[in-house]
Amino acid sequence: MRELAICPGTFDPVTYGHLNIIERGMPLFDKIIIAVTKEAIGKNSLFSINERIEMIKESVKQYPKVQVEEFSGLLVDYAKSVKSRVILRGLRALSDFEHEFQMASMNKRLNPEIETFFIMTDEEYFFVSSSAVKEIARFGGSLSQFVPYVVEKRLREKFGKED
Ligand code: ADP
Repeated sequence: MRELAICPGTFDPVTYGHLNIIERGMPLFDKIIIAVTKEAIGKNSLFSINERIEMIKESVKQYPKVQVEEFSGLLVDYAKSVKSRVILRGLRALSDFEHEFQMASMNKRLNPEIETFFIMTDEEYFFVSSSAVKEIARFGGSLSQFVPYVVEKRLREKFGKED
């Protein structure tokens, strides 16, 4: 059976931390769908769904196994609709653990056939988060080690500091 994994998230915006998880998932799965949440509960996204998708597409265009889609509603329902049994997530600090454990447990209850797989972040990306990247952009700091060029450019445009 061909194994398809779904990597869900807000990706506001995508960072090298996210991309590291995708790249490391690639040898393990036949296909990975990056599923971008349309509405993020409790989060005001800086970028629109279309902007977030465009930036990811540009960042993964060299990977034929990776597809980018938007989704709304329950993740387990989406996974089922595309016939995936695997949810792929990245894990950073301890602070990620509680939230991820809760979500994985809830999803397991909602659909026991779907497993959540975690890949530990590379230490290099341990502290990289979309929110930190936005904070750096706001104050005009250097972004190139945290995000692909396309994201850096969009962030500069948002915060009015074009190179
Ligand atoms: P969400 O809104 O669901 O938290 P995010 O877009 O913030 O989605 O993150 C999507 C996934 O990528 C999550 O599993 C998150 O833990 C993971 N992730 C984010 N940043 C990193 C990083 N620097 N290293 C490893 N995983 C990361």
